Amino acid sequence: MQVLVLGSAAGGGFPQWNCNCTNCESVRQNREGYTARTQSSIAISSDGKRWLLCNASPDIRSQLNATPELWPNTLRGSGIAEVLLVDAQVDHVTGLLSLREGCPLDIWCTPTPIAI
Ligand SMILES: [Zn+2]
Repeated sequence: MQVLVLGSAAGGGFPQWNCNCTNCESVRQNREGYTARTQSSIAISSDGKRWLLCNASPDIRSQLNATPELWPNTLRGSGIAEVLLVDAQVDHVTGLLSLREGCPLDIWCTPTPIAI
């Protein structure tokens, strides 16, 4: 099994757009030891060809462009065959809007909770 870490930051990424803490400021100032990170997501594959994307963050476009294993290998296509949504947080689902345009995807999620 192969696991690709596409992003490892909390919602909003790192640095946060509205934060000027020492860490966020250090990224903006290109200080040594500080690296910008995109929002959390991983891709999993058993064969290195078909990938399960775990969460589709708003950063998915830049994450895919930075990950050669997930680049299209046909004129129109993607190695991403399925998407697993671990929850319905906006940081985990809005990337689905970028995965449109003709590549069918199976999307997995938990059932809707039953109201009591
Ligand atoms: Zn900060």
